Amino acid sequence: MVDLSSPTYPDLAFRELPGFQWPDGASCGVTLAWHVDGEAGPMASDRRAATHVAAISEAAYGVTTAMPRILALHRELEIPGTFFVPAHVAERHPAMIEAILKDGHEVAHHGYMHENVFGMEAGDQRAVFEHASAILERLTGHAPRGWSAPAWGVSVETLEIMASLGMLYDASLMEHDRPHMIDTTSGSLVELPISMVLDDWALFGSSIYWGGDVALVPAGTAEAVWREEFDGLRHYGGLFHTTFHPNLMGRPGRLLMLGRLLGSMREQSDVWWGTCTQAAEHAVTMEQKP
Ligand SMILES: [Zn+2]
Repeated sequence: MVDLSSPTYPDLAFRELPGFQWPDGASCGVTLAWHVDGEAGPMASDRRAATHVAAISEAAYGVTTAMPRILALHRELEIPGTFFVPAHVAERHPAMIEAILKDGHEVAHHGYMHENVFGMEAGDQRAVFEHASAILERLTGHAPRGWSAPAWGVSVETLEIMASLGMLYDASLMEHDRPHMIDTTSGSLVELPISMVLDDWALFGSSIYWGGDVALVPAGTAEAVWREEFDGLRHYGGLFHTTFHPNLMGRPGRLLMLGRLLGSMREQSDVWWGTCTQAAEHAVTMEQKP
């Protein structure tokens, strides 16, 4: 029988920051964020993937082949980056974490094995957060300040757990264009909104382990989509916050395109660039503004 009852939505308060401005009068902000899923991509849904040598090689491409080129691109264009890394991938590839930190970038929380926490019991969610945070803290020297949801699975409990652990920001929700606050029963977080428009998975996503067809959208199509979005966010004062996957975006042709796009964005003098933590810290100062 059809359910015609009125649904109950969680009691969550999203609080926009009415006087929000980007630092130094910039028109918009850019946070170049990467989801370094690595082997945790196929492993998240099926631990048997560990023995699927081809699937693991496809996933590891992002770490071993793509990440050095991606870091070189960041250095060349002097762009700060935020790397959301499942803790399993971080402990499997500690030299990659070292390389990210050596260049002054941020390493942030992306689960232990890229768990989709939506639907998980709160106790299990907390266990994932604490376990992964402890590993990242050991490898980076401090607890991660922010999290981006693997597979975009987020529940109210997730946000409460993050606030209770003293995390600064979430980077998973999509209601607004600019950083804003989320008030939970355990405290407040900054939200750095994402969009599927700036998620390369939407254009290039595939995994042989899931039997996915290889997405063959030309890199120029992505360039056109992202340039349009950059122009729009610059006009409306939003945050150009990417979700790029090294195993997808680090393919040679796509990375050349990204270099062209970012190079032309860098020529604009009215754009603020920072890590996710820097963007979130800025939002906190905007919140405290009288
Ligand atoms: Zn991911």
